[in-house]
Amino acid sequence: MSQTYDVVIVGAGHAGAQAAIALRQRKFAGTIAMIGDEPDLPYERPPLSKEYLAQEKPFERILIRPEAFWAEREVTMLLGQTVTAVDSDMRRVVLADGSAVGYGTLVWATGGAPRRLTCAGGDAAGVHAVRTRADVDRLMDELPRVERVVVIGGGYIGLEAAAVLRKFGKHVTVLEAQDRVLARVAGETLSRFYEAEHRARGVEIRLGAMVSCIELRDGAACGVRLADGEIVPCEMVIVGIGIVPNVAPLLAAGAGGGNGVLVDAHCCTSLADVFAIGDCAAHANTYADGATIRVESVQNANDQAATVAKVLTGAPEAYAAVPWFWSNQYDLKLQTVGLSSGHDRSVVRGDPASRAFSIVYYRGSRIVALDCVNSVKDYVQGRALVVAGASVPPEEVADAATPLKELGARLASAGMSA
Ligand SMILES: Cc1cc2nc3c(=O)[nH]c(=O)nc-3n(C[C@H](O)[C@H](O)[C@H](O)COP(=O)(O)OP(=O)(O)OC[C@H]3O[C@@H](n4cnc5c(N)ncnc54)[C@H](O)[C@@H]3O)c2cc1C
Repeated sequence: MSQTYDVVIVGAGHAGAQAAIALRQRKFAGTIAMIGDEPDLPYERPPLSKEYLAQEKPFERILIRPEAFWAEREVTMLLGQTVTAVDSDMRRVVLADGSAVGYGTLVWATGGAPRRLTCAGGDAAGVHAVRTRADVDRLMDELPRVERVVVIGGGYIGLEAAAVLRKFGKHVTVLEAQDRVLARVAGETLSRFYEAEHRARGVEIRLGAMVSCIELRDGAACGVRLADGEIVPCEMVIVGIGIVPNVAPLLAAGAGGGNGVLVDAHCCTSLADVFAIGDCAAHANTYADGATIRVESVQNANDQAATVAKVLTGAPEAYAAVPWFWSNQYDLKLQTVGLSSGHDRSVVRGDPASRAFSIVYYRGSRIVALDCVNSVKDYVQGRALVVAGASVPPEEVADAATPLKELGARLASAGMSA
């Protein structure tokens, strides 16, 4: 075995980087190694479909920390190395080149791989994912030769990419299998708002569009064939249909899970001294009424990293952070807090036509989430209502003239915030 570290972090992404940062912040004095299959130091992924794709930020500005930071904090970076197996009895991970690295504690922070198209042509030249720097660099190299782009999937990443590509003057078609964009993550009002915004900027949005295959010319994508036989011509296809968590080596080692590795409130897996954090960690989330879910966001990656660091420095605290997320499209800044899935009612504050408004989601009488478009104030003030699961009458919430913090304060003084 080449080397053993007190903590080995597999995955040099958001969660892995934050785990190392949090450990050192909390004065963890042991040895730390981070093993990542990408060649780069940990970098922020959100700009990949925003400022980095738009060429507004160079790569150096999206690094989570500069190179010197990791050396100063004595975090050993083993980059360009893939962990292929975990031996939890021997407490070591095996790398693709056959070498092994021993651990005292293992933190699995491997995120997910973009879900690929399984249809014919799904892996042809000209078909792209947006998950890594390499994905985006490849896409950018081809872009000057491209006029028409088909984006498959109307989720946040697909829509953000569509917005940037419109800025570059490309003809963009978004194909969404469901009857609205953002169906997995937002209520219908928000979906319709974003559909209208994209259409107003020239994006063609096709709902209920089922992809049958990618049409090829000389081995490269030249169109997308739909189930009804229609072909949408293009020179580039961007696929944004979700991720599959990178958990195979850990499940093979005996960790519980399936769609992600199962972890408890302290991010412990079922294997001794093995933790999992970030996109790949399936946990019972307070804000999903305790349902076991994976949360794909920077917030979750950072907060679960902090949870592990607390456990490893002798101050365990259960993970119960409120989820938050953002998305930038054109001049629209969306900020969300809470989880709106399973809501049974929603209330709009403000007028969507003004392009600054919020949607407040309820489960029963409780506020469970907010989607705020160009409404930072609602986002900041509404957070406490989500955390408290406040029961504010919808008519009061709908009155945009009343600040949300006033509603929260009223409830608190009446002693009935939750
Ligand atoms: C284009 C894009 C835009 C996004 N926008 C937002 C946003 O606006 N707001 C937001 O909150 N979130 C956003 N996200 C989601 C956010 O980036 C993720 O939730 C976050 O990166 C998760 O961190 P992670 O560490 O779990 O996974 P990652 O950051 O993906 O890091 C995992 C790392 O582990 C590596 N790895 C995997 N398997 C192995 C292995 N076997 N051996 C070694 N290394 C391995 C991976 O290659 C990767 O480098 C966006 C994501 C993308 C892709």
